[in-house]
Amino acid sequence: KKERLTKIIESLSRPLEFASKDDFAHMESLKGLATLVDRLSNVALGFGPAHGLDSAFKELKETFTGFDALGPAEKKERVLKGIEIVKSMKAVEPSLKEGAELKPLSRAEVRKKLNLLKTPLERLKGIGPGLSGRLKKKGLTTVEDVLYYLPFRYEDRRHVKKIGELKPGTYEVVTGEVMAMGETRYGRRKLFEVVVSDGSGLLKLKWFNYRLSYMKNRFKEGQRLFLYGNVSIFARQKEIIHPDVELMDENDDSMHMKGVVPIYSQIENLHQKTVRKLVRRIVEEYAGSAVGGVPEDIVNEAGLMGLADAFREAHAPADAGGAAGAVLARKSITFDELFTLELGLALKRRNTKQEGGIAFKAAAFKSAASKSAASESNDTLEKRLLGLLPFTLTAAQKRAIEEIRSDMASPHPMNRLIQGDVGSGKTMVSFIAAFIAIESGFQAAIMAPTEILVEQHYLTTHAYADALGVRTVLLTSSTPRAERVRTLKAIEKGEVDLVIGTHALIQKDVEFNSLGLAVVDEQHRFGVVQRAALKKKGARGTEPEAQTGEGLSPDVLVMTATPIPRTLSMTVFGDLDVSIIDELPPGRRPVQTRLMRERDREKAYAIIKGELEKGGQAYIVYPLVEESEELSLKDATNMKEHLAKEIFIDYNVALLHGRMKGSEKEAVMRAFKKKDIDILVATTVIEVGVDVPGATVMLIEHAERFGLAQLHQLRGRVGRGTRGGTCLLLAAYTGSEDTWRRLKVMEQTTDGFRIAEEDLKLRGPGDFIGTRQSGLPDFRVQDALGDLTLLKKAREEAFGFLERDPELASPDAACIKEVLKARWKGRLELAEVG
Ligand code: ADP
Ligand code: MG
Repeated sequence: KKERLTKIIESLSRPLEFASKDDFAHMESLKGLATLVDRLSNVALGFGPAHGLDSAFKELKETFTGFDALGPAEKKERVLKGIEIVKSMKAVEPSLKEGAELKPLSRAEVRKKLNLLKTPLERLKGIGPGLSGRLKKKGLTTVEDVLYYLPFRYEDRRHVKKIGELKPGTYEVVTGEVMAMGETRYGRRKLFEVVVSDGSGLLKLKWFNYRLSYMKNRFKEGQRLFLYGNVSIFARQKEIIHPDVELMDENDDSMHMKGVVPIYSQIENLHQKTVRKLVRRIVEEYAGSAVGGVPEDIVNEAGLMGLADAFREAHAPADAGGAAGAVLARKSITFDELFTLELGLALKRRNTKQEGGIAFKAAAFKSAASKSAASESNDTLEKRLLGLLPFTLTAAQKRAIEEIRSDMASPHPMNRLIQGDVGSGKTMVSFIAAFIAIESGFQAAIMAPTEILVEQHYLTTHAYADALGVRTVLLTSSTPRAERVRTLKAIEKGEVDLVIGTHALIQKDVEFNSLGLAVVDEQHRFGVVQRAALKKKGARGTEPEAQTGEGLSPDVLVMTATPIPRTLSMTVFGDLDVSIIDELPPGRRPVQTRLMRERDREKAYAIIKGELEKGGQAYIVYPLVEESEELSLKDATNMKEHLAKEIFIDYNVALLHGRMKGSEKEAVMRAFKKKDIDILVATTVIEVGVDVPGATVMLIEHAERFGLAQLHQLRGRVGRGTRGGTCLLLAAYTGSEDTWRRLKVMEQTTDGFRIAEEDLKLRGPGDFIGTRQSGLPDFRVQDALGDLTLLKKAREEAFGFLERDPELASPDAACIKEVLKARWKGRLELAEVG
């Protein structure tokens, strides 16, 4: 383990070398040099005398005592001496005794380091309120934020091309001197041009949108520029349109001029150089305090860098490595973040597995429902339910049920996610789970996000439940007061077996007698908090454990139709086991999807009419405009009038939107189900779960405003019967080819998982997880979940690590635990971390 010592020596040598560079030009920017030397020396000294470098570290410490108060000449001397000492260390180091065990950082040391990273930026010298305000707007408030403010690209300024060598169609870095500049016109468009030369040729720079006064002030003849952009040829002249420009100063240091130079995303109107200097300074002073959350042997094995080194490399790539070093650095930082994420999830998961839960045993039900005439049979409830269904379960449904059954039989709480495409029959699976719980003498609850959906579930179950003597109630926020009071009492007394409801289920005043199973439908509409709230309503029950006053954790089943690529779902739902229903009931035909332009509107109406004539029904859907629900409502309302009066004169057209009262919505939905309504004009309230078998065609307006996964959900509302369905996507022209290509995917496939992957590629994982709601730690690296291979690796390593050291008892783990706690903040129970 002498790498750690090697690292310390390396960490000392870098800033010292840097301080001496360019005739000590950077001396002033190295504010923390003395502190750094002191700190690192202490760490090394803490390793004990075994490495034989004690005296050297002590000497080094002395050399920098009182350093900050010295004059420039003195400082130079000390730095040179420091460099000598470090060199001598490096000379000795290869002969360090093998197995000279080094002590890992203690928890207190780690905490100290992590605290240092929380240093607010305004406390640093040279950062006044103005600057810190601007930084804050970019989300940069602490030193740590800046470390994670990774460059979005690098410019290799080691081998700058000559203008004469530039090839069109490539992104290049060049330098040049401003020869001429000014505003010109091409036809009716104004533009600003700058001509630069480097002796080998001329290059034109062009801007189309600009402030003239700003441009005129920005450039001066004779000014030298660093330029980056896509080279093209126009009128036989090389040019770059909207290049990135950095002014070169005579007294610029090599940080900006040579090597691989990091480019940061813009912070207000700060110059790139200012940002770079600021970041560089903070990295030099504080990167050493970064503590990684990955055990060292895993870092090494994966060929990655330690976190501190990775920060240094990402912000100031070593010349030798070029941009490759920076790429590895970024990967290392991401891995570090993902590992912490996965380790936290592994702990959470282990914990639920150890919690006490209910081991459901069938047979108790009979007595509870003995009054019911239908309960004479000796068969289980489940079996009798299956007998009543007009269909047989698909193999995928059966598989999911078996997985649930074995979870429910175990004495630990089930925590299972059912993922299945729209229409795959998740609801029935959850009913069966509910019946298993009820049979064992417990209550079950199903929570769904909308009243329509709850109502629908209720209608479906209730027919079967009545026949089987299972007492079912509906609970939503529009349940009348008096009825609510009665219902709550019944639930508390255990006179109800199955409760189906909205958020109303998790209100304080709802108390269950013996909740054994909690089902959450369309779980992406709920946050973890709500999931947890339902779980807390657990059984007080009869088991001996319950005597302690704590309820037993009920089994939890969550369902989602939002397909998520598997690796990602394991993370997003990392503390859940997953069952996948990857099969649709037989006879379903995939929804035919057509992407259309506005000019095809008449054609779209004709297709709808055709379907209506064949006895089908139609949805016409409007997106919820984010800034203004009102606006989309107006759209939908106007459109409904227009369609009813001018287009579909012979048909019943109705409106459904989120502002309507629950009872109104239900009335409309019921009428639609009964075919009293032919066309339902709706905002996205119908997005989840609604099941109307007669609906065969859907027109989606402004399809370009929806995510693919959402479109897929919507289109799952049609073709639920055996007649198949048609989905028409009407997209406004956005001028963006990407949008069109993205929507085209909808025509090509009905595989929810493929669509999810496309969405992931195009829009990033944010859509899937809504990190704020997910209960996961905030991600520091942008798009950390973007690299699924890395995520998978992190997951395997983290779960493996916990398996090898379940109590996190190894000395290495002490440090890891601190990092874990800091990053997950309150989102891991202390008991989980230890
Ligand atoms: P989702 O998975 O989207 O929630 P649902 O549970 O709403 O799907 O099921 C969609 C429709 O398919 C419902 O009308 C349901 O009754 C029906 N269904 C469920 N399972 C089967 C099956 N095995 N065979 C035929 N139809 C089924
Ligand atoms: Mg459903």
